Amino acid sequence: MNDKELLESPLKIIDPSKQGQVYEDRKANEGASKHYYIESYGCAMNFSDSEIVASILADNGYASTKDMNEADLILVNTCSIREKAEETVRNRLQVYQSVKRKKKGLLVGVLGCMAERLKSKFLEQEKLVDIVLGPDAYRDLPRLIANAQGGERGINVLLSREETYADIAPVRLDNNGISGFISIMRGCDNMCSFCVVPFTRGRERSRDPFTIVSEADMMSAQGYKEITLLGQNVDSYKWENPETGKVVSFAELLIMVAKVNPRIRIRFSTSHPKDINEDVMYAIRDYDNICNYIHLPIQSGSSRVLELMNRTYTREWYQDKVKKIYEIIPDCAISSDIICGFCTETEEDHKETLSIIEESNFVLSYMYYYSERPGTLAARKYEDDVPYETKKRRLAEVIKVQAAVSYRDNEKDLGKTFEVLIEGDSKKSNQHFKGRNSQYKMVVFPKKEGLKPGDFAHVKIDKITSGTLLGNLVEPA
Ligand code: SF4
Repeated sequence: MNDKELLESPLKIIDPSKQGQVYEDRKANEGASKHYYIESYGCAMNFSDSEIVASILADNGYASTKDMNEADLILVNTCSIREKAEETVRNRLQVYQSVKRKKKGLLVGVLGCMAERLKSKFLEQEKLVDIVLGPDAYRDLPRLIANAQGGERGINVLLSREETYADIAPVRLDNNGISGFISIMRGCDNMCSFCVVPFTRGRERSRDPFTIVSEADMMSAQGYKEITLLGQNVDSYKWENPETGKVVSFAELLIMVAKVNPRIRIRFSTSHPKDINEDVMYAIRDYDNICNYIHLPIQSGSSRVLELMNRTYTREWYQDKVKKIYEIIPDCAISSDIICGFCTETEEDHKETLSIIEESNFVLSYMYYYSERPGTLAARKYEDDVPYETKKRRLAEVIKVQAAVSYRDNEKDLGKTFEVLIEGDSKKSNQHFKGRNSQYKMVVFPKKEGLKPGDFAHVKIDKITSGTLLGNLVEPA
């Protein structure tokens, strides 16, 4: 697997050097006279939020376009997780500005985490923007558009303790109609010292499970084959029925959604090692359509660094969780996030990170070097003292070890048959399909007449790379 593949994932699209994803509403707003163009950067939560924004815009007479020159409104949904992600957005604002110069009345809006972090600075310093809207304020978009049309640039970055957008049916902006996201909660109550999310997305709140189930129902009726439940920390999902006081946990929610349609695959992201529990593991084991895959970020293999990161678990705690997962779900795949070169990280700490990749047998990791974010606990308390060259070298070593572990794990799949959900043509050949197995591994195989994206196929693996399983179609056993 090369570096780029390691950084890419439909669950977490966080390579900031990549062009943001431009989406078009598959369910076009027929009679609309106005058009919006939206680009999304960052994590899957942002992509899911863009679908809520699209729904609000559709209700206000807007249809989407993929051509920004056609748009009356350009929106960029932003990410603040790393400096580079913000740089990318700033460059994009210059591009929108050149379109704005040619089109009188065109409005430009910044949404999401960067809007929340920089607030009015966007209006004051970057006179490129008409609207600034934080993640909890999307319902206010029509009012801010109307004000901006009247020449008054506007901002709303109020964070909420209640907003979950539970009543808004997202407009699905994806292109394939096969896999979709459902946002189950918002915000985060953890205070990982490197992370800007608690400041940009506010306190954690869980969405009414019945609205989640009805959204899953709707997706089932629309023909979706895979649903990913999204939250910053899904294992701490907790909804209390205001009438009965009964609490619904994440494991219970998972089962409720899995029961909507046993032919729809269920995934979830992201899990936190301190919160994932055996009920969730048993739900995965007991329901065939809940995929055998857990994204369980460790961030560092060193307990000392984990403490500085305020992750609230140790290396040993993490190892115990991993052991329990493999005990309950032997064919479960686990992936991780890893930060190299966090403040004070020594060579010893780094070696502990390399060894935990091996020990935990991560099938893949999303790997970065530490980038200090203003306002975070780490930025206030610790010195970013690991030299850039050292961070880069350690990242290269982590990538190398992860690639070897991924290859070793893929070797075990030789000769096995997997059910694969076909996503589309493989990157390298239009004679081949690509899709994922339950463990989230990419599988490539030759096409066969009658099969199409969205179908399930059985593929026997006869070749591997560190990033892909290759094989041929077989009859289901
Ligand atoms: S769990 Fe930690 S890393 Fe994840 S969003 Fe919350 S604060 Fe950030």
